[in-house]
Amino acid sequence: MMKRIAILGSTGSIGKQALEVVANHPDDFAVEILTAKSNFKLLIEQAARFHPSTVVISDVIHLDTVKRALSSLPVTVLGGQEALEDVVTGERVDMVLAAMVGFAGLLPVVRAIKAGKQIALANKETLVVAGELVTALAREYQVDLLPVDSEHSAIFQCLKGEQHAEIEKVYITASGGPFRNLDAVILAEVTRHEALKHPTWNMGAKISIDSATLMNKGLEVIEARWLFNLRPDQIDVIVHPQSIVHSLVQYCDGSIKAQLGLPDMRLPILYAMSYPKRLNSLFPRFHFPDYPNLTFEAPDPARFPNLSIALGAMRRGGNMPCVMNAANEVAVDAFLHDRTGFYGMTEIIEKTIRQATFLQEAGLTDYIESDREARIIAQSFV
Ligand code: NDP
Ligand code: MG
Repeated sequence: MMKRIAILGSTGSIGKQALEVVANHPDDFAVEILTAKSNFKLLIEQAARFHPSTVVISDVIHLDTVKRALSSLPVTVLGGQEALEDVVTGERVDMVLAAMVGFAGLLPVVRAIKAGKQIALANKETLVVAGELVTALAREYQVDLLPVDSEHSAIFQCLKGEQHAEIEKVYITASGGPFRNLDAVILAEVTRHEALKHPTWNMGAKISIDSATLMNKGLEVIEARWLFNLRPDQIDVIVHPQSIVHSLVQYCDGSIKAQLGLPDMRLPILYAMSYPKRLNSLFPRFHFPDYPNLTFEAPDPARFPNLSIALGAMRRGGNMPCVMNAANEVAVDAFLHDRTGFYGMTEIIEKTIRQATFLQEAGLTDYIESDREARIIAQSFV
């Protein structure tokens, strides 16, 4: 049966690769909705090629341009954040691929779950901010949260056929980012251009910076905690620079299962979209002689303090991961605009955590308020 997919963030790194997957499997997937924030040019091109029934551009200043460009096609063009949240509930949508970046993913994902849509989740920030709430909702509405993040796709695949009670530990692999071997003095001076050059993955700007600081791994530990219902002490991070082993699960008898493959996001995207089936793909295959050495090492918390900050926020719980996420979004944006340095980002996050209101229990409106407050505080330290 054809799956009709709403791709939120279709103009981004994940969104574009998801469209490649759709193009390769025209009998399995159809595009129902495409959305972008401001890249109207690409959104128009994508709509002309993939024939969605609706497109949404969040920045309404571009709405008229998109409408005019697509006026000869049978496509509804909408603008604004609310439209983004509404369209995911549409009757014709079977699956929502959440591939927008940051906190902005939370409300559309919540709406989609409540409308009973299958969720392919790339937007890890949704689970960092409100993982407990979102996973509880998914259970309530009997919706699958299918991970797109490569590590989580790996864990998800390793867990197939196993009992939850028999999981001892999960190892999340990290490439270590572009600065794995730099010492702290040099790290303090790195530029955004250097930080945007990831050694093994080609990704959007925000996650590339998060990978350089290892904040991305911190976010992924929190994502795994909620997605797989694990205790914080059951999750370990291990640096694996070749990015071939995408993550591992250790069971109570000591046996470890791993999932391997070339670093290619189209694979976990395809798996989430085709789940529970696997579809044929012509993506390049792993060739063992090309990788005589697969290496593993512990992360260095002294040079990459953002990882420990994220783990601390997870253990504290409540709205703390939400506060940390907001501060990190502000810090990364400041770094991308040359307004703070590598460790300046850490400082902004630490100071924000100290000042923001802590709530041990939080609901959706608390998260929205915490995100807003933390952004204002973080901005004052930029
Ligand atoms: P990109 O920055 O490449 O793309 C983000 C997409 O979201 C774009 O389509 C962008 O539109 C849209 N967008 C940005 N801000 C908003 C907003 N406020 N409201 C609505 N739409 C918005 O990001 P990536 O594709 O790299 O990452 C997307 C998500 O997937 C992130 O959460 C990331 O952590 C996660 N992820 C990404 C991986 C990767 O390999 N890239 C791997 C694993 C997870 P526009 O183009 O108009 O700005
Ligand atoms: Mg990842």
